[in-house]
Amino acid sequence: MATIDSLPPLRDVIASHGISARKQLGQNFLLDLNLTARIARAAGDLTTADILEVGPGPGGLTRGLLAEGARRVLAVEKDERCLPALAEIADAYPGRLAVLNADALTVDPTQHLGQPIKVVANLPYNVGTELLVRWLTPAHWPPFWQSLTLMFQKEVAERIVAKPGSKAYGRLALLAQWRAEAKIVLTLPPEAFTPAPKVHSAVVHLTAMPEPRYPADAKILAHVTATAFNQRRKMLRAALKGLAPGIDDLLSEAGIPPTARAEEIDLERFCTLARLLADQRRPEQI
Ligand code: SAM
Repeated sequence: MATIDSLPPLRDVIASHGISARKQLGQNFLLDLNLTARIARAAGDLTTADILEVGPGPGGLTRGLLAEGARRVLAVEKDERCLPALAEIADAYPGRLAVLNADALTVDPTQHLGQPIKVVANLPYNVGTELLVRWLTPAHWPPFWQSLTLMFQKEVAERIVAKPGSKAYGRLALLAQWRAEAKIVLTLPPEAFTPAPKVHSAVVHLTAMPEPRYPADAKILAHVTATAFNQRRKMLRAALKGLAPGIDDLLSEAGIPPTARAEEIDLERFCTLARLLADQRRPEQI
């Protein structure tokens, strides 16, 4: 197995520290250090940024990030069995790796890292979407992160970058693309992981835009898109009729045929509709 540093190969690390993969922690490890270095490079220049890594496990991606020159890495890992392996990496890169034994859902990275911050992670699938939605919906924009470079199940990655008219297009695409540039930068077969999962995976790179692509109130936009896509087979005039009296007129004013279905409508027109609804109603009514 190729190595990118003077530390032992990951198979040896896993064997010597007894880190057998646990399904309930979403543990599918990347053991090819050339691959982890490629994922690290997909995050762009790391030398001028602090990195949040969620779920480092035995540290394959962590080593990729450090070998690629990351200024500092904060690695948040729930499984304490991984800590001795991560401590060895910290020793090999003095002052550049901090490890937190914690649930990533409870950590505020800004307490530990300086700006600019990039998030890079081979996420556990069970918490991946929840973390992504949180990172995309902070109380204030721009968010704490400059970019997110994240591994997902391929179907989830396709939902993040989907365009109107496709089956994968829905709330996640709108949420991600409203305030970020999103693209798939790498796809991986199951055999890239140990143990191999049942599904293919893909790395998505998201860059935070300074301003939303089109103006809209975040809560109203989220509510409109949730309502529209909860009944994605219905015509929008029916799916959205509870949102406002005269919804047909508002849809037409937004350039949306009232007989269209949610998956045909692009982000710009959803934002226009959200603004028209905001003008018409007090936000707490929506
Ligand atoms: N980054 C490693 C790699 O690429 O080989 C491991 C990836 S594995 C898919 C996901 C890792 O996330 C596991 O090490 C698991 O223990 C950890 N993990 C699971 N849930 C977590 C949580 N809520 N907070 C922090 N780490 C978590």
